[in-house]
Amino acid sequence: MNPPRKSDAAPIGAMTASCGFWEHLLAGELASIRSANLYRSRPIVRPLDAVHVEIVGRRFINFASNNYLGLTHHPQVIAASVHAAQCDGTGSGAAALISGYTPAHASAEQRLARWKGTASSVLLPSGYQANHAAVQTIAAVGRNRGGVRFLIDKLCHASLIDAVRASNAPFRVFPHNHLGKLRRLLETGDAGEVQVVVSESIFSMDGDSADLGGLAELRGSYEFVWLLDEAHATGIYGPNGSGLAAECGVRQFVDVQVVTLSKALGGIGGAICASAGFCEAVINHGRAFIFSTNVAPASAAAAEAAIDVIVREPQRSLRVRSHAGRVRARLGMRGDSPIIPIILGTEAAALAAASQLRDRGMLVGAVRPPTVPRGSSRLRITLSSEHDEAEVDALIDALREVQS
Ligand code: PMP
Repeated sequence: MNPPRKSDAAPIGAMTASCGFWEHLLAGELASIRSANLYRSRPIVRPLDAVHVEIVGRRFINFASNNYLGLTHHPQVIAASVHAAQCDGTGSGAAALISGYTPAHASAEQRLARWKGTASSVLLPSGYQANHAAVQTIAAVGRNRGGVRFLIDKLCHASLIDAVRASNAPFRVFPHNHLGKLRRLLETGDAGEVQVVVSESIFSMDGDSADLGGLAELRGSYEFVWLLDEAHATGIYGPNGSGLAAECGVRQFVDVQVVTLSKALGGIGGAICASAGFCEAVINHGRAFIFSTNVAPASAAAAEAAIDVIVREPQRSLRVRSHAGRVRARLGMRGDSPIIPIILGTEAAALAAASQLRDRGMLVGAVRPPTVPRGSSRLRITLSSEHDEAEVDALIDALREVQS
């Protein structure tokens, strides 16, 4: 068939009309999201410093950021980022396997691996991609070597769930922190099939921790690969902020640690920290690594500087844990993780509570499905070492009012 001639092309007016059906569908979809109180939008949030922001000219204390140690604004982290941008440019220009792997990347990977106690590490543009690449790699190796099955905690982050689903490998979800169920699943694995246990050390929406000691014990009794996402524990727990697995003394049982550079490290990017063999496999099998431009050199340099600061200034992690312990104790909760959920149930209740706090000058996230299970919409409060005592006290008072 001949290609259509220019004169055959639809006139502009007809094209607009033919898109009308799609805009109509979109409008219906957005209206139903709104009526279910699940509508999401992005306010423009201007950072004033590590813990204060301005929205439409109003100043808020930010209790809705994962900037646990305030490193987004640390002068040494900023200086490292600026220096790397000046030396290496603003972007990597290509995937790491092509030409996007600079000395800044290599140096940051070595620093991350040393910090995390692994032989090697691989940087990725985001934590989301790091989880995808880790799962893709385990799935590819397992599939090529007799089969693979993922066993994933029900409350794992969407990046892990999406990665496991997209891998097309069989998987089973075990109830949150239910190691009895996990043990039974491990006992039913097919012979020759690689079992993979996927968990987070501090869960992103509940702020509770996995039973890392229990998982390590299982790892001693059963053969499996242990993938642990340390996104919300890195920088806060463990010697030198190196994570909860290190704090619990079980790091040697973890096969693959995933770290985000976007939370306590105050930057952007992700990293897989593991054996040299696994990192080599990521470079060969991790599609989220292979087919994406490398994280900017400035982000790699910032991450390295952030680790130096975390090691040199342990008072930051002590302070955020102390703030968290105080707020949690006042709310009748145990622990000292800086992620504090106030579960309210309905979407409307969570939105109303967040709005009440905004009226008091506090920005707090209202987290709703699908981020959390239906019926467990909540406020997700996050603390930073850079909040001062008065701000933490004000939060405690405001929460009491919201809950009463
Ligand atoms: N893992 C967990 C547990 C997370 O909470 C997040 C981000 N919220 C990610 C991975 C993804 O990290 P990033 O934002 O760097 O893509």
